[in-house]
Amino acid sequence: MALDTLHDLFIYELRDLYDAEQQILTGLPLMAQAAKAPQLRQVFEDHLKETRDQIERLDAIFHGIGVSFTGRSCKAMQGLLAEARDTLQEEADPEVLDAALIVEAQKIEHYEIAGYGSVRAFAQELGYKDAERLLTETLKEESAADEKLTHAAESRVNEKAATADEAKV
Ligand code: FE
Ligand code: FE
Ligand code: FE
Ligand code: ZN
Repeated sequence: MALDTLHDLFIYELRDLYDAEQQILTGLPLMAQAAKAPQLRQVFEDHLKETRDQIERLDAIFHGIGVSFTGRSCKAMQGLLAEARDTLQEEADPEVLDAALIVEAQKIEHYEIAGYGSVRAFAQELGYKDAERLLTETLKEESAADEKLTHAAESRVNEKAATADEAKV
């Protein structure tokens, strides 16, 4: 599509995010299944529910503007999820695999945060108030998911330290 205006770019990037979210919808259950720590599995399961809401918000935005959501396939998300699948195929210690899942998931969240941060800024600039509000909600969820993953990583490290202490005494 021709990118003549900021409105065009707004739609262009929203369509990329729409396809990325659809891919994430199929990727998150695999990551939840593979997670060993219940806390980490819960983060993935909760974010799967949020992802469905995020897709509904994008639907609402497309509907509000009167354009279709089709037309782009997010090659970056194809790559990120292909890497995650590769990692899951590796023969790995279960705890190390959890750490690996966190890395893969945070790469995905940061990609989304970059995309949503930009489209929200465009919505603000274009005066699309409803879209701006909906995108702010999603952006908060993506940032919260990123933080929960960091906490999951921290508790994994703390648990490991505690186990090491026990081994010493
Ligand atoms: Fe998302
Ligand atoms: Fe993309
Ligand atoms: Fe996300
Ligand atoms: Zn971050």
